[in-house]
Amino acid sequence: MQDCEIFTIFAVVNQNHKAMRVLLIFTGGTISMVRNPKTGSLHPASMETFKSYVPELISSEVEVDMLPFDPLIDSSDVNPDHWVKMAQTVVDCYDDYDGFVILHGTDTMSYSASALSFMLENLSKPVVFTGSQLPIGVLRSDARENLLTAIEIAAARNAEGRAMVPEVTIYFEGRLFRANRTTKKNAEQFEAFDSYNYPALAKAGVHLTYREHLIHYNEQNLPLRSHLKIDRNVAVLKLFPGITAPLVQSILQTPGLRGVVLETFGSGNAPSYKWLYEQLRDAVDRGIIIVNKTQCSTGSVEMGRYEVSLNLMKAGVLSGYDITTEALLTKMMLVLGENDDPDTIRQQLLTPLCGEFSVVENA
Ligand code: ASP
Repeated sequence: MQDCEIFTIFAVVNQNHKAMRVLLIFTGGTISMVRNPKTGSLHPASMETFKSYVPELISSEVEVDMLPFDPLIDSSDVNPDHWVKMAQTVVDCYDDYDGFVILHGTDTMSYSASALSFMLENLSKPVVFTGSQLPIGVLRSDARENLLTAIEIAAARNAEGRAMVPEVTIYFEGRLFRANRTTKKNAEQFEAFDSYNYPALAKAGVHLTYREHLIHYNEQNLPLRSHLKIDRNVAVLKLFPGITAPLVQSILQTPGLRGVVLETFGSGNAPSYKWLYEQLRDAVDRGIIIVNKTQCSTGSVEMGRYEVSLNLMKAGVLSGYDITTEALLTKMMLVLGENDDPDTIRQQLLTPLCGEFSVVENA
């Protein structure tokens, strides 16, 4: 593990009256940036500058170690190698900390956080992603509240000493979401994320209110397992009125392609072009996994509800139910990375692995 800086925040102690320990993994994003007064552009702050904007970090009693990526990156540059680095860091440090906070740019946070939810199986400790819409150095930035509450959630325990939210989550602007249910919805407002098909796991107002019935707990105390093999041979094929056969063909004939997220209309419908179904059938016959994901934010794919989706089913396309594109794409990359057997791949994609979708009757 790289060298960490240690400082303390809040008065949180565990049952043994020891301070809780949280590892702050710093990947970059707006939260870590300050404005260059000469050029006006944003660039990564040094850790010293960052801490000077959050004096609470030094004056309280959760022990927080800081582990910055070198270099800090804009999340538009984050790729699966970075997901592996984040997941591996959590695995390497798992026994030394009570919880983890990952500071990350908002642009691709839902992808990274979804990926980690599949990479870290049987979590018993919180892994909370957060970031901000305004840089830490700006007076009315959302960075401080997001950071401090994320740390509080990562350290939170119930009366029996169990982590309140032992899942991969995103905390942003007063709400804590299951990571693999989130989407970045807003480039302007502080409320940057939403979870359209699953309620918030906790809300932060005057009180931090946890909704335990919505949270997944590792009841059998199974040991942490990591999945770090990723296959990037996937594509998102977004349907639109007027889509042409050569375009679909160019995607489905991509050399090495193994999985496709098919973004459809409404409850999972596609235009009834014969060539489309033939191309999809041909791809499925060549072993490519195709999963139907509605372009709607809310609601579920219901294959067979209309004839136009029944045809997709006949072509061998699987239902993604109410999953997000971020969760489906990252899950596909991981399932394909770990498996070669088509039946196992299909079965894993049709089963919620960590609460990433809800199965709807007839879907
Ligand atoms: N471009 C930035 C990033 O994703 C935006 C942000 O952090 O909000 O890293």
